[in-house]
Amino acid sequence: MRTMGLAAIDELVAVLDGAGYEVFGPRVRDGAIVLAPISGVADLPRGVGDEQDAARYRLRDRGDDRLFGYAAAAQGLKPVLFPSDELLVRIRKTPIGFDLEEPEAPARPRAFLGARDCDLRALAVHDTVLSSREFADKSYGQRRDGVFVVAVSCADPCGTCFCVSQGGSPKPGDGYDLALTELVDDAGHRFVVEVGSERGAEVLAQVTTAEAAESDLAAVDAQVAEATASMGRTLDTEGLPELMFAAADSPHWDTVAARCLACTNCTLVCPTCFCTSVEDSTDLSMSTTERHRVWDSCFGARFSYIHGGVVRASGKSRYRQWITHKLAGYQQQFGLSGCVGCGRCITWCPAAIDITAEAAALRASLADPETDLETAGEAR
Ligand code: SF4
Ligand code: SF4
Repeated sequence: MRTMGLAAIDELVAVLDGAGYEVFGPRVRDGAIVLAPISGVADLPRGVGDEQDAARYRLRDRGDDRLFGYAAAAQGLKPVLFPSDELLVRIRKTPIGFDLEEPEAPARPRAFLGARDCDLRALAVHDTVLSSREFADKSYGQRRDGVFVVAVSCADPCGTCFCVSQGGSPKPGDGYDLALTELVDDAGHRFVVEVGSERGAEVLAQVTTAEAAESDLAAVDAQVAEATASMGRTLDTEGLPELMFAAADSPHWDTVAARCLACTNCTLVCPTCFCTSVEDSTDLSMSTTERHRVWDSCFGARFSYIHGGVVRASGKSRYRQWITHKLAGYQQQFGLSGCVGCGRCITWCPAAIDITAEAAALRASLADPETDLETAGEAR
């Protein structure tokens, strides 16, 4: 393994840029960490940490120089690879008929600096759902092709993180080209680098690095162990899919529905949610029509509309659909969980509804029907 200093992050971004990638990384914008184009260390959230809890997100001054000292950013990689609004086709009227114009593939492949293990596992979910089935999503495939990932270990998980319960880890496990673990201690500010692909090795060969010392490897292990032990939440996954299906008629759904505002925040921030709708618009001259694909949400009142009416008319049925699909239905459909434990749906729910607490409340109510449902689902 290799180590590199702070200046080498600038080198890494420059090498990726020179190789033709559009480089995205974490930036502070509107009081949150978001993914956006970057050109070097100066763009990164140096010394910025976060506080996250149910319905709470704040940035804080860490009092150190860490570049990646926050937990899950407000969004994962989804908005870049599966945008909230994308043109599918533009149709122009011509004197003799119509011209059809399809959007072109992105000019440059994307590179992501700072992706976390939960981001990579969410990417694997989207790869399965959008690219690995009989009818692949063409525009997702075009954006996904050639993506280069520089993952980063989480040093400081937040109050809503529970990736470890979902088989993840603060240390990226798979799906990266390079993985960094940032160390800040008496020995200085440095990054231990692991190579995950041939492309990663080729890029790293152009950056100033040194052989990693045994003490640095020990520091990585210690930091990861500490982060693993400091998850803000846990989710008991023992028999969870069976439990979710068995809870279909639980009175607990009424308790959640009384709090849920059907605002759709949870689905918009979830890195694995993939529901969309199609919208058509025509300009005022009536000569050009555009068809767009836009994110949709199973919490929307008309999302389940089919001929004759709406299948899930109540808030209770919509929350039940969402959480049951995440924790049980995905297993049947795709052979994996629809939840990677990033905690974003908990942080960004204005009603502080907590997927881990609701699953625990359902488990408790099935085990003991006398459970007080008013308090069983309170955020913990
Ligand atoms: S669970 Fe929370 S975030 Fe999701 S729709 Fe209901 S109120 Fe909004
Ligand atoms: S359901 Fe919630 S915790 Fe799970 S992946 Fe989606 S946003 Fe993250």
